[in-house]
Amino acid sequence: MIHFIDGQFLAKDSLTISIDDRGYYFGDGVYEVVKVYDGELYTAEEHFERLSQSATKVKMTIPYSEQQLIDIAKELVKVNGIVTGHIYMQVTRGVSSRVHQFPNPEVAPVVTAYAVHNQRPMKTIENGVGTIFVDDIRWLRCDIKSLNLLGSVLAKQEAFEANCAEAILVRDGIVTEGSSTNMFGIKDGIVYTHPASNLILNGITRRVVLRLCEENGIPVEEKAFAPEEALAMDEFFMTSTTAEVTPVITIDGKAIGSGVPGPLTKKLQEAFARQIPVSVAG
Ligand code: PLP
Repeated sequence: MIHFIDGQFLAKDSLTISIDDRGYYFGDGVYEVVKVYDGELYTAEEHFERLSQSATKVKMTIPYSEQQLIDIAKELVKVNGIVTGHIYMQVTRGVSSRVHQFPNPEVAPVVTAYAVHNQRPMKTIENGVGTIFVDDIRWLRCDIKSLNLLGSVLAKQEAFEANCAEAILVRDGIVTEGSSTNMFGIKDGIVYTHPASNLILNGITRRVVLRLCEENGIPVEEKAFAPEEALAMDEFFMTSTTAEVTPVITIDGKAIGSGVPGPLTKKLQEAFARQIPVSVAG
């Protein structure tokens, strides 16, 4: 596979990363994952706009415009022949000896990206997944898509050890989001999700789903809810670039609603499938 590093497209084996890269020492950087359907980037503008915003929030300047980043991603799709898959791109603050404060004089950020072939996760999309509640021990700027993912890594591992697909994070008695997903509950026909704040990543798929709710006349309340309220929902689902709209059928081993993907979740899945290329919509 061909990767991108600092202006060059290179085979993975021939590229080098410095051990002094601040991404390696501190997780000092930001990233994006962009889905590819039928050889086309999906919601690319939104993803690269969020990448710029994440960079600005951590006081980094990406040496490419959003359009240039899109062009790099498109080139990776092309040279790697990606039909269905995704692009991963990260930007670190650059290479410098290990001191916490920003390098002075400033160094150039390191931009790397690669492409992955993978199919849509139809099995989990159709059947749903099990989840567990896990304490949200992350920092207070979860709105930044930062490379610092240790809180998410530990939560996801806990979920996997419990034979579950995802951890539902709980901070101060409130469900925030998943370790790598946004969480939604449905009660009496209303879709509930945590408001976009510093406590969650405002997912691009979350935004797509909120738009689809509006277009389909499904009422939404961006309102935080407690774990007990989550357990009492009629339906529950999670969203992300790779998981799309995945039903959550159990939390902590307890069935949500009737324990199978619910009708409104299915309606949203169908609406989601209608706005991706027909050839992959299934
Ligand atoms: N929340 C967190 C913590 C994430 O890491 C992610 C994606 O990786 C999401 C939500 C979903 O965001 P998106 O829909 O943009 O993939």
